[in-house]
Amino acid sequence: MVRPLNESDDNKTPRATMKALVFHAPHNVALEEMPMPTIMHATDAIVRITTTSICGTDLHILHGDVPTISAGRILGHEGVGIVEEVGANVLDFHVGDKVLISLITSCGRCSFCRKGMFSHCRTGGWLLGNSIDGTQAEYVRIPYADTSLYLLPPEVDDEAAVMLSCNLPTGLECGSISGKVKPGDVVAIIGAGPVGLAVLLTAQLYSPAEIIMIDLDDNRLETARLFGATQVVNSMDGKATEQIMALTRNAGVDVAIEAVGLPATFDICQSIIAPGGRIAIVGVHGTSVELHLERLWAANISLTTRLVDTGSTPMLLKMVQTGNIDAKKLVSHRFKLSEIIKAYDTFGNAAREHALKVIIKEDLFCNPPPR
Ligand SMILES: [Zn+2]
Ligand SMILES: [Zn+2]
Repeated sequence: MVRPLNESDDNKTPRATMKALVFHAPHNVALEEMPMPTIMHATDAIVRITTTSICGTDLHILHGDVPTISAGRILGHEGVGIVEEVGANVLDFHVGDKVLISLITSCGRCSFCRKGMFSHCRTGGWLLGNSIDGTQAEYVRIPYADTSLYLLPPEVDDEAAVMLSCNLPTGLECGSISGKVKPGDVVAIIGAGPVGLAVLLTAQLYSPAEIIMIDLDDNRLETARLFGATQVVNSMDGKATEQIMALTRNAGVDVAIEAVGLPATFDICQSIIAPGGRIAIVGVHGTSVELHLERLWAANISLTTRLVDTGSTPMLLKMVQTGNIDAKKLVSHRFKLSEIIKAYDTFGNAAREHALKVIIKEDLFCNPPPR
């Protein structure tokens, strides 16, 4: 027996399965029927996903770069939805609430959570679409619902809200806050993908004098200009460092934010950083880099790494709600859940498709009518 989404009639027979994107092996994912999630702990909630998205991290998973993912895992860590069911100990959320799902699950009680380092929660952290089933599905189980979900005001658009699951807090916390962007700074952001653009949007909250955006793709650089970059540099010629030094009259930059995750892009950061500058790592690095301490040991620079903790999410939600951040402009494409493989292809070929963030909406056609 199955029941359709939005069921409100007397047919309370639970559905047995749902559509979900399942990882089988690198380069092998499929949209298939999976068992419906159920409450496993009294602090869990089940959320019906109305809007989800694909993250650059999902592409790393697809390419086999994330060894913690096991075969059979439902992918996805970004989402907005409606609470469908709550465990007995969930106090702050109720069936029917519209919620934002944070990529970081946090217990709120462990030593790391008490320090605000929710990403290192001893029984939480980045679980969704990693060590537990994620949001690229019709339904998802959210552990520690009270401390891992946010109630969404009705006026906040779903597509803008889903940028708050991962993209905007990552850009703000790992980029703009770690890099200590301040009024008058010259900031360079290496990588104009969705996370680099999130850094660009949030860095402007601190009134830097210049934001130089560096990427290989002219379309993304054009978008960066529209989003507020004051200068853009195409690094295709391998001479990004020379171009940035020329733009800064050989002074270098106060803040260099690495939003790609490659040795070459880290190298640009350490080549352009001015004395007293800050290098903030946002990109996911899979290999070691060469740190030129022979040049930097006396330059008073600092280098930061971190996972996103999502402590900034309530503030960002307010800024999106009041229109101070236009999160929706990060969205370039929209698909239904039944088209998610096509959505991955579009996002995975971002330069060809001119793609930023791709939105995946719930798809009523995924749900067979009641029999
Ligand atoms: Zn993400
Ligand atoms: Zn914790």
